[in-house]
Amino acid sequence: MRLVLLGAPGAGKGTQAERIAARHGLVHLSTGDLLRAAVGAGTDLGRKAKAFMDRGDLVPDGLVVEMIAERIREASDRGFLLDGFPRNVAQAEALATQLGEGGLDCVLHLRLPDDAVVERLLKRGRGDDTQEVIRDRLGVYHRETEPLVSWYQDLGLLHAVDATGSIDDVTQRLGAVLEACGTVGDARS
Ligand code: AMP
Repeated sequence: MRLVLLGAPGAGKGTQAERIAARHGLVHLSTGDLLRAAVGAGTDLGRKAKAFMDRGDLVPDGLVVEMIAERIREASDRGFLLDGFPRNVAQAEALATQLGEGGLDCVLHLRLPDDAVVERLLKRGRGDDTQEVIRDRLGVYHRETEPLVSWYQDLGLLHAVDATGSIDDVTQRLGAVLEACGTVGDARS
């Protein structure tokens, strides 16, 4: 299966992605994790990305697309779950070009109201989770990433999942939706 997990920061993408990947034997590819690792290792990419991440801005598309393309290639036989990518239309176009038609089975959209997002992120307390950066990241999400909801809806790939409630509640809802994705994938192959 080839999946994309869409949702605001704090909607639970990372936690749920780990669970889905483990359950279905998929490679979990998180651009946020990869970028944080690059920053930690002090690589050229990490040095370029850090200022954008500290502000809550998107790292330039060219850097992110180059970073993830190779990983996607390596994971394509086993199947993968993209977490935090694509984050705007330009990245979605780059992904579509790389994978070709029928390259994705499902896009899962974790839906959470803004006030719940802010509450969860303040509790998480990561370095880029200060109140001001959270506001900026939410603005970036609505402006840049949310248009992908209708983009993938038009392609018939989008499945909305309620991300309120406990982690287990959300995992269960995702599981139900994923069964449908698996069926679609089987029917096609
Ligand atoms: P995340 O862990 O997904 O919340 O990502 C943390 C930060 O990494 C974001 O606020 C961005 O600065 C950067 N980032 C992660 N994924 C992407 C992406 N696909 N495109 C651009 N920047 C990204």
